[in-house]
Amino acid sequence: MSVCAAKYHDQLISIRRHLHTMPEEGWSEFTTTAFLVGKLREYGYEVLVGTKVINPDNCLGRSQKVVDDGIERARANGVCEELLKEMGGYTGCVGILDTGRPGPTLACRFDIDCVPVTESTEADHIPAKEGFCSTRPGLMHACGHDAHMSTGLAVAHWIADNASELCGRVKILFQPAEEGVRGAAGMAASGIVDDVDYFLGAHIAMMCKTGEISIKPYGFLCTTKLDVTYTGRPAHAGVEPNAGRNAMAAACNAFVQLLGIARHGSGMTRINVGQLNAGEGRNVIPSHAVMKMEVRGETGEINQYMYDSAVAIIQGCAISQGCEYTIEKMGEAVDLVNDEELVKVLADAGSKVQGLKVRQDPMNFGGSEDATILARRVQAHGGKAAFFVIGADRPSGHHTSRFDIDEGALDAGFEVWANAVEEILGNN
Ligand SMILES: [Zn+2]
Repeated sequence: MSVCAAKYHDQLISIRRHLHTMPEEGWSEFTTTAFLVGKLREYGYEVLVGTKVINPDNCLGRSQKVVDDGIERARANGVCEELLKEMGGYTGCVGILDTGRPGPTLACRFDIDCVPVTESTEADHIPAKEGFCSTRPGLMHACGHDAHMSTGLAVAHWIADNASELCGRVKILFQPAEEGVRGAAGMAASGIVDDVDYFLGAHIAMMCKTGEISIKPYGFLCTTKLDVTYTGRPAHAGVEPNAGRNAMAAACNAFVQLLGIARHGSGMTRINVGQLNAGEGRNVIPSHAVMKMEVRGETGEINQYMYDSAVAIIQGCAISQGCEYTIEKMGEAVDLVNDEELVKVLADAGSKVQGLKVRQDPMNFGGSEDATILARRVQAHGGKAAFFVIGADRPSGHHTSRFDIDEGALDAGFEVWANAVEEILGNN
């Protein structure tokens, strides 16, 4: 069986463009999920949604307001009540196809959310020029998850078309809320990958150009995302400032000190406080402050060092101002080393694609990716896992308003995926 993208080329492009017009932020992807569910059912998959694939106890960074808006939008978009009820307030879905023949279980993971970026409408920005720009101001598929979904559906379609020549079982995971590394923990905790023997995930572009794939990416930074809330006591700034407890002062002191955490000698570290909201008004001692921040580390141990150092500063600054504080974990990703068995599968899968260069040299991913949480869960249960990068040229970096991917790279990416599925589930 030789995999050729020709039959799936039009669907790869048209679905990517359709989804590009309708970006949805993490945990609000109800319209997107409904679209994916519809396609998977059309291909003959059993599809699980809602709490069957997401454990509500492990959902990180899920805002009820964003969820409610997403449900309302889905209604307005014509998503049926029955499906919304089935989803039960949780986005994402898993398509399962059992060939009926004994063999391994393979999970293929694709992420589905967008980024809070306003898309460029400049004439030379291809989505603007060709009429598939985001229709939602302030939101954009600026990380290529639209391409991930169209690839995932094309792979699912190919598997269904060729099921008679495959064995074992496949699970197509469409994971919500990757941005901020929030969604994978809930999906992993649902147990949906606990019976998985092989796990594959991929990202488009990043450090790879059109015509190449990276099968040994490294540098998946472990990260913890935190919301820190300081609560003080308001007071009249002229009459009785001494009666106040200044939450903004606690936050500002913490902010400066956090940036000064000593770097770790054993590997890379990162820290950022990206948002700080505080105070009530000019003449009131500020009684509340909320900081959105993150730490990262090259390994779990180094990330933990950054986290512990941050907590000590946050706590110290609360004490110094007589304020209370809470820390809420909003997202989490870990590191990953690809299992050699799957590196070999990917090398073979890539070498079968005409003109594709398989990069076996370690290439720095340089970001965080919560597919690692699912991958590690599979490894913890004795399965094998790998994450790879499908090269694609891009006019502008990820998460920027002029981000776009070279659609010419989608065929090769699809073929790598399908070849890998065939290597793992082929009826040899
Ligand atoms: Zn991404």
